[in-house]
Amino acid sequence: MPTVEEDIQFLIQIVKKDMEIKEKKKLLDAIPPRIKAIDREIKKMDESMSETKRIIEKLDAEKRHIELELKTHHAELEKKKEEQRLVKDNKVYRAIVTEMEFINKKVDQAEERMLAILDEGEVRRDEIRILTEKMSGERGVLVAEKDRLEREAGATDDSLKILEDEKLRILPHISEDIRRQYARIRTAKGDSGVANLMGDICQGCYSRVPPQRAVEVRRNEQIMNCEVCGRILVHYEIS
Ligand SMILES: [Zn+2]
Repeated sequence: MPTVEEDIQFLIQIVKKDMEIKEKKKLLDAIPPRIKAIDREIKKMDESMSETKRIIEKLDAEKRHIELELKTHHAELEKKKEEQRLVKDNKVYRAIVTEMEFINKKVDQAEERMLAILDEGEVRRDEIRILTEKMSGERGVLVAEKDRLEREAGATDDSLKILEDEKLRILPHISEDIRRQYARIRTAKGDSGVANLMGDICQGCYSRVPPQRAVEVRRNEQIMNCEVCGRILVHYEIS
């Protein structure tokens, strides 16, 4: 059966583990949102790249369509010219002229649209070039950062398991009633059932402990609880 002083020394080891566990958990909790933010960034880049590619494909398809249209119009014009050459009737001749004017108007419109398509195509291809440059740099950095965070999460998780394991090996050394008290407060508080007293401040709830009680706590000779948060108060120097 351990003495109270021995129990307190074990409790000090426990609270040190608890604080480390708390820190590791905080680290671990911060990682997934960072990974999510990186994923969003990468997705945004990939999306604007595929969106621009999609626009270029659409422009190219329209360009091919207009080229065909122009070819058809030119063939029609050739045909009309031939008809014009052979026609004897004035009225029919004028009708052909009107038809040719109509076709020429369509040719003008198609050529105008073609110029606009070529212009926009050039702008979009510039965009692709800039995006490609950006992605080869920034995207690589983001992917590397994500890898690093995933490795960090893995390593933190491993050290968390080790800490939990070390704590489990200390616990059985503590007197049963104190261990139970610890477990009860630990469950209620979520981090630890024990708190270090630094100066006269309980490090569990940051409230001030009366000077005389603080003196007694620092002796580590009896189980004393914080009057505010209920945690068992111990004292050790932070190295
Ligand atoms: Zn407290």
